[in-house]
Amino acid sequence: MPTAPRAPMPTGAIVRSQFDTAADLANLDAAQRRLLRGPFRSVSVDVPVRMDDGRIEVFRGYRIQHSGARGPCKGGIRYHPEADEEEVLGLATTMTWKTALADIPFGGAKGGIQVDPRTLSVRELEAVTRSFTGRISLLLGPYRDIPAPDMGTNAQVMAWLLDEFSRRNGYTPAVVTGKPGALGGSLGREEATAQGVVYVMQAFAADGGLRLPGSRAVIQGFGNVGAHTARILHEAGTRVVAVTDVDGGLHNDKGLDIPALFDHAYQRRRPVPEFEGGDRITNDALWRIPCDWLIPAALGGVIAKDRNVDDLDCRVVVEAANAPTTPIADKVLESRGIPVLPDFLVNSGGVIVSYFEWVQNLQQHPWALERVNEELLRKITTAYQAVRDLRRAKNTSWRTAAYAIALQRVAEAERLRGH
Ligand code: NAD
Repeated sequence: MPTAPRAPMPTGAIVRSQFDTAADLANLDAAQRRLLRGPFRSVSVDVPVRMDDGRIEVFRGYRIQHSGARGPCKGGIRYHPEADEEEVLGLATTMTWKTALADIPFGGAKGGIQVDPRTLSVRELEAVTRSFTGRISLLLGPYRDIPAPDMGTNAQVMAWLLDEFSRRNGYTPAVVTGKPGALGGSLGREEATAQGVVYVMQAFAADGGLRLPGSRAVIQGFGNVGAHTARILHEAGTRVVAVTDVDGGLHNDKGLDIPALFDHAYQRRRPVPEFEGGDRITNDALWRIPCDWLIPAALGGVIAKDRNVDDLDCRVVVEAANAPTTPIADKVLESRGIPVLPDFLVNSGGVIVSYFEWVQNLQQHPWALERVNEELLRKITTAYQAVRDLRRAKNTSWRTAAYAIALQRVAEAERLRGH
């Protein structure tokens, strides 16, 4: 459960700026803007916890439901010292666009507790989770709001959340996704985001004269998304030439030994730069390495003007992380002719498979892994094609086209509900 330091530009600010640009293009009126910019419901709570040394500590927690126009609110819970209201609202907003673009029957939400989970014992982590769940449980439910893991939380945390909610309301597996398999979690959920990243890359490659086999990828971040993306790309024949984590990284022009690095850094939780088999690099140096696919899969705001955007030497940026590109850097990349495949398309595989998990829980009918991946491929490729076609028709950026589709779907749902 590694956590990341604060993004150089806050996610909330990036998402707000992107929304304003998209709302102008979609000609939303003032009331629609107000409705879609702010949260439907924003709750902040004190989370009291008895620590191992006997004292009571109180953490700040949030659950922000941005929109429930298209279905129950859906979004992860983040444990991070900087998970403040603005950050959580930005991420909740992105979830609304993500679920709309994927065309799954959910709205957007996010939760967070301002705590560094690395400083907690396992018992304290459980106590924090149960206390927080108790405080927000009135908001939750399979047809109200369905949390999932995010940075700093994992399947075990979701298991405690499920237990605490079910204690009050009876056994309710569909109230949370990203659970362990033994409690109704879906096959394929752990690697779903990365699998979706690679499906989008495959679709883009098929359209654009690129091929995954033999192409070169550079990845920032070697957690759930980065490590599984590297593994799946390696299996597809892509040369992953550089990766970094919070401690720095490695570069090998012939391609890194990804299966061994996956075992070292992802399974055994060792720092990437401690692995043998490449030259050590810093996170700053990563951006200058020539490649076809540049895949930020860690923090928001990492591709920025006056930092690295002029140095990027790639054919396409694949936003696996949330909000990795600042709005100004986005414009620079557009003027340089480097396409940016936007976060809420690229990393939607996680929430798409969360939707499958919810369906399986409601029906009490588990799916085989093949079915999960087939339906994920179909859903995410359909979303990709809709963005691609609109982008071509309007001669606009991938991000703008994706926003136009998502905003239009959410605004239409609000209109039909009478708002
Ligand atoms: P994670 O916590 O599993 O891994 C994060 C990785 O980033 C770790 O390898 C960490 O060392 C690295 N990192 C942290 N700070 C860094 C820094 N300053 N420089 C370089 N690397 C750094 O997180 P994750 O679940 O893989 O999520 C990564 C990104 O993808 C986040 O932006 C997250 O919001 C987004 N995302 C994740 C999912 C999912 O299903 N996990 C879904 C959608 C979007």
